[in-house]
Amino acid sequence: MSGLIHRGVGKEAMMRDREIHADKIASTVKRLCIEANTILGEDVISAYEKSLEAEESPVGKENFRQLLENATIAREEGIALCQDTGLAVVFVEMGQDVHVVGGDFNEAIHEGVRQGYKEGYLRASSLDPLTRKNMGDNTPAIIHVEMVKGNRIKIRLAPKGFGSENMSRVALFPPAVGIDGVKKFVIERVEEAGPNPCPPLVVGVGIGGTFEKAALIAKRSLLRPLGERHPDPVIAKLEAELLEEINKLGIGPLGLGGRITALDVHVETYPTHIASIPVAVNIQCHCDRHKEAVL
Ligand code: SF4
Repeated sequence: MSGLIHRGVGKEAMMRDREIHADKIASTVKRLCIEANTILGEDVISAYEKSLEAEESPVGKENFRQLLENATIAREEGIALCQDTGLAVVFVEMGQDVHVVGGDFNEAIHEGVRQGYKEGYLRASSLDPLTRKNMGDNTPAIIHVEMVKGNRIKIRLAPKGFGSENMSRVALFPPAVGIDGVKKFVIERVEEAGPNPCPPLVVGVGIGGTFEKAALIAKRSLLRPLGERHPDPVIAKLEAELLEEINKLGIGPLGLGGRITALDVHVETYPTHIASIPVAVNIQCHCDRHKEAVL
């Protein structure tokens, strides 16, 4: 009897488990590198169009027209949206029933980046932080893996430019600063950044966790489509309030003055320690690039 149960469970497990070849992962990452760098998402295009209407500054309006034209040229001619094609940040949701075969999982992602940046004529920006010697092929990718249920792999690839990454910050506050202190920190970071991160921005905010968790959820929040509010009404309200305050700063598109300094603000939270409120602000420039695939 127990043997039958054992065989039954084994069969079920066999039906659930899936093999995914490393070459498939590499070719998918290669495609995502090229698409992310040349085809802006519909949500971003739509945010530009709405901002073109909402912006009051004539210079700001002209900037939005140019951003739209730039996106069209990049898509139609298959050329990079920006000369800074970023470091390849890769978020992976790895189904726990997936078995990667035919090669090493991390190396498959690096190989995809290597091929994508070469074949897409995308700038290789990755280098040794001390010697400043260029790696030559934009590897290694920055890989974040989360194990999830199921037998699929979801890959989300976001080339991250460093004009905006350089303006990002993490801080750990005593709990007494409260939500008002968090808001003040976020708004001051955007104000301090001024024109440097190539506005209009998407501001990713991570609140809670630990030092590194706050930064990670701030970055992951940037992958959410523009205009989509957090499902928790408290967080959604905070996002809307921050967006309104940031758009009162007057920095404007490309930092030349205007109403639209940010296209959106995304906040993610995570439980934290009783003694702290970690806050990370990850700033994304107007070149808000990311693409995803499910294997
Ligand atoms: S911050 Fe963004 S828009 Fe500015 S140069 Fe870098 S990738 Fe391009």
